[in-house]
Amino acid sequence: MKIDEPVVPEEFNRNVFLTTIDAIYNWGRTKSMWPMAFGLACCAIEFMAMMASRFDLIRFGMEIIRASPRQADLMFVSGTVTKKMVPNIVRLYNQMAEPKYVLAVGACATSGGPFKEGYNVVSGIDKFLPVDVYVPGCPPSPEAILYGVMKVHEKVMGQSVRTAPWYKKDQLNEPLPMPMLGPDLYNPKDRDALMKVVDAVGVDKG
Ligand code: SF4
Repeated sequence: MKIDEPVVPEEFNRNVFLTTIDAIYNWGRTKSMWPMAFGLACCAIEFMAMMASRFDLIRFGMEIIRASPRQADLMFVSGTVTKKMVPNIVRLYNQMAEPKYVLAVGACATSGGPFKEGYNVVSGIDKFLPVDVYVPGCPPSPEAILYGVMKVHEKVMGQSVRTAPWYKKDQLNEPLPMPMLGPDLYNPKDRDALMKVVDAVGVDKG
């Protein structure tokens, strides 16, 4: 370092950072995230432990677990994702308002886990939804899920109101398409499509 170079104290740098709109806005968002209550299998037990007093998600300002997707901005997909459940997960995701984030908790939500290639299980929720953070483990510990939450916060802190897609007029948030998986999943209102499946698999209609 040259002798005449001005030395800027670390605190001063931090204060300048905190005065930017993005930093204040994103700080507020990380401290008021509302997760959606959502458990699919055993990983949800670890999620409950993370919420309870020992691990205490509340210290991140996230104690309000919402039962409605319209009031939530963080989806924990915690557990085995079955083919029957996927359309409901996508429907709930579509009902969440932007900006929204998805945390895949555990091996099942990340890749199918021990049930990968099972006839009724999908190989990860990221085939159907944009996942922001993956937490490995079967099950992941509550500390690991907390770490995943902190990673979501890091991602939020790196975003800018100037480039965020949900503020752009020309980027309307189209709902994700509803997945239809296999002959065991069908739209009960679409009788014609159902009958085609029945004909294709040769089910006795009588
Ligand atoms: S990852 Fe393991 S603990 Fe979590 S839902 Fe799947 S089987 Fe259960």
